[in-house]
Amino acid sequence: MHENIEDLTHLKKLDSSTVLQCLQSRYKQKQFYTWAGPTLVALNPLKDVPELYSKRMMHLFAHESFTYKTPHIFALGQRTLRHLQWGLGKTHQAIVVNGESGAGKTCNALYLLSFLAAMETNNNEVPNSSNIEVLLCQSNPLLEALGNAQTLKNENSSRFGKLIRLVYLGEGASTQLVSAHIETYLLESTRVARQAAGERNFHIFYQMLAGLSDSLKTELELKDVPIWEIASERDCNAVDEAQFHATVAALEQLSLEDTANQLWKLLAALLHLGNIKFTVTQETWTTNQRHHMESAARLLGLNSNELFQVFTVRNFQAGTKSPAVVRPCSSQNECAARRDTLIKLLYRMTFDTVLESVNEKLQHTNNDQGQGHLFTPKYLCILDLYGFESFQYGNSLEQLCINYANERLQYYFTINYLKEQQVHLANEGLNSIDLDENVLDKHNLISFLDGPVSVFGVLNEECYLNRGCDDSQVCIRIQSSLNERTKGVRSMPPSPRMPRVSRTKAPPVEFAISHYAGLVSYSTVAMLDKNRDQVPGEMMSLLSKSKSHFIKLLLGKDALIFNATHTMNGRRHTVLAKFKNSLDNLMRILNACDVHYVRCIRPSVSEIHYTSSPSQRWDQDYVDAQLNACGVIDTIKVSSFGYPIRMSHEEFATRYQYLSSSRRDRNLDAKEICRRISENYPQMASEVRVGNSQMYATEKGIEMAERWKLQVRNQAASIVQRWWREHLRRKKAALTIQNWWRTIVVVRAANKVKRWWKRKRSAAQLLLKVGQISNSVRVVQRSVRRWLARVRARRAIRQLRAQISCPPPVAQIDENWCDSNTTLKVVSLNWAENNNCAKPTQSPSLISLQLSRLNYFYSVGVISIRRPPSVRARFITRKTCLPFSFIPPKTQLPTGLTDAYL
Ligand code: ADP
Repeated sequence: MHENIEDLTHLKKLDSSTVLQCLQSRYKQKQFYTWAGPTLVALNPLKDVPELYSKRMMHLFAHESFTYKTPHIFALGQRTLRHLQWGLGKTHQAIVVNGESGAGKTCNALYLLSFLAAMETNNNEVPNSSNIEVLLCQSNPLLEALGNAQTLKNENSSRFGKLIRLVYLGEGASTQLVSAHIETYLLESTRVARQAAGERNFHIFYQMLAGLSDSLKTELELKDVPIWEIASERDCNAVDEAQFHATVAALEQLSLEDTANQLWKLLAALLHLGNIKFTVTQETWTTNQRHHMESAARLLGLNSNELFQVFTVRNFQAGTKSPAVVRPCSSQNECAARRDTLIKLLYRMTFDTVLESVNEKLQHTNNDQGQGHLFTPKYLCILDLYGFESFQYGNSLEQLCINYANERLQYYFTINYLKEQQVHLANEGLNSIDLDENVLDKHNLISFLDGPVSVFGVLNEECYLNRGCDDSQVCIRIQSSLNERTKGVRSMPPSPRMPRVSRTKAPPVEFAISHYAGLVSYSTVAMLDKNRDQVPGEMMSLLSKSKSHFIKLLLGKDALIFNATHTMNGRRHTVLAKFKNSLDNLMRILNACDVHYVRCIRPSVSEIHYTSSPSQRWDQDYVDAQLNACGVIDTIKVSSFGYPIRMSHEEFATRYQYLSSSRRDRNLDAKEICRRISENYPQMASEVRVGNSQMYATEKGIEMAERWKLQVRNQAASIVQRWWREHLRRKKAALTIQNWWRTIVVVRAANKVKRWWKRKRSAAQLLLKVGQISNSVRVVQRSVRRWLARVRARRAIRQLRAQISCPPPVAQIDENWCDSNTTLKVVSLNWAENNNCAKPTQSPSLISLQLSRLNYFYSVGVISIRRPPSVRARFITRKTCLPFSFIPPKTQLPTGLTDAYL
């Protein structure tokens, strides 16, 4: 997966394949805009994406912080407006939108306008001023109807270049849009008379045929005509009628209702003219389409015979004083060419007149607003210019003009961009880049095209000399003059090259020029005629006799242009000369502006892709060709001339902090860290520069930094790994030792317990024996004591009997005997009362018997109570980490030991 970045100049590798991959991945993610340095690349979504241009998005992009990062057409609009309002850079601002037909120029220019209009509405305090935006938007359907046509690539292709100049007054937030002006370049008027297969005439013809009311059609004699040669009714499509109403509405909103009626008349006349064919009978030109002739003449307010004469008869005038020589045209083609000249002239004049009316409306809307006088007007120009064009065959004068315009714009961009870079780098305290080296090639090519000895030079000279040079001679002259020009020129690559066709035996009619966008082969067939674009004088004088006010109006305006387009010596300017002049003017306008660029790219040429998913809508080669044609690749190349990679000091310091030599460096400020890093690596010094406000680096410099960063990180990683392995080894060893030691401790403890147990058991046995012996001893003692007691008792009784010779007393024993000591007390001696015996003289205490400690006598018998000796035994061991060390070994030990323990 390719990196998805928002600025192509930040790509790590700057070449067309990486640019393509990046754009494709963004396109898949529905990110249709990408920066390429200062340029905005706009990919055509090929279907509506309303959420991309919603009110919410407009609101988002109205905030500056969001603007400068996210690529979007609104971001560019907002940036441009901010520059204009706050006087950043030059006073005037311009946005150049280019790209090939169908790439989205018109759409993007419209979105741009709507964004600027929305911003204006937000700022508005003067209620009238929003009319400009409204009028601009309203005029669009009208201009599209007159200037757009269906081509092979685009259903709604603009066939003219357009410069919309918005005029602002005021300063800062109070800047207001006060008027606007639309200027057009090189309307493709040849299309009115003839179109390539599969293409259509300008939309307005089909709209008219589909939408005009029957009554108006009848009035214009447009009914019941099987075919219109220049715009067949069969080519009308579903949207034409709807668009007709939009065009009519636009005319009404612009208060051009009168112009509308005249417009339908003139266009109907052109349709009739297109149907006229010429035949020759008896050396005189006639036509079978007389009714068309009549209708056209009527609609144009002309005499039909005079009109036919203009088509079929030529006037020659050798000098201004000599009388004109009149000669019939030599061929049908010549007649048809003169007819087409009139059609083209009338259409071009109509287009210019309508445009002028629109401009008048845009100009005068806010004349009444007061504060404008205090400020100088500031312009915001939007240039929507046709993109570079190259067909496989038949590239002609139109393509030469278009490509020349693109070449000049690209040169202008390169020069300005590089100059900007120079100034910028100088401000940053860095060496500037060599401008001459980089722009020399481009300058050479432009001089090959429009210099004194050049393609334009040869074509203009042949038109002025009018010496009947044929197409191949023109081609040979162009080739030879260009080959001469390339001699001694330092840089050869952009020089014109001989196409292969010219080396064959057939006379050459093609020359090739290697433009910045690629090699284009031009055909010289009919190039001179197109360049001459001659309007016969008799045609102009016939038109001046027209009864139609509209034609007079057209002619009045064109007469001025007509006069202005003549050279000092009375020759009419060629198309190339006029085009060069208008481009010179355009360049003057752009020179006064800060220019911002939008390059529109169409991802696929096929219309089938309209319905498919974004990933299927990508034609790699086609996009590549457009990136070249739009100058995106050139922009990228130009970016790489200087230090294409820029980043803040903080970012660089964070990214490459590993390259600073000591850890203490990391506490310094970001710029100082960057300086230390570049000092640490002198090899990198010329590739990575520390600027005053940011870091500048070449691709090579960043590659070096990345490589070293990788090395440093690898080294650090191996140190960490080594340390970690060491740590693991030590831990393992410690665990082994601990295991071993624990085993020892457990074994020792177990041995101790065993020993103790053995000891305990032998003591118990001993005790048992002692117990047995003492039992025996006690039995003997008891027997002896009993015997002795009996003997003593008997003796005592005998003595008493002897003394008193009465019956022996019965001894009573105190019940508390067990509490008293071992002395048996005879508490009373019950002598028989009736006994005459003398009472004993001794007190009972005297006859107490001293008994041994353990033997108690009760009554006459002896009860032996033997208490086992109470032995308290407890294992007290030292505190240890051994598990279970405090748990008494109950289960392991015999029962007797437990007793002992308790
Ligand atoms: P160009 O002016 O370059 O000839 P257009 O602006 O007319 O091309 O665009 C051709 C078609 O592409 C439009 O009709 C529209 O369908 C589509 N298109 C172009 N840009 C956009 C866009 N930004 N959003 C949606 N559709 C677009």
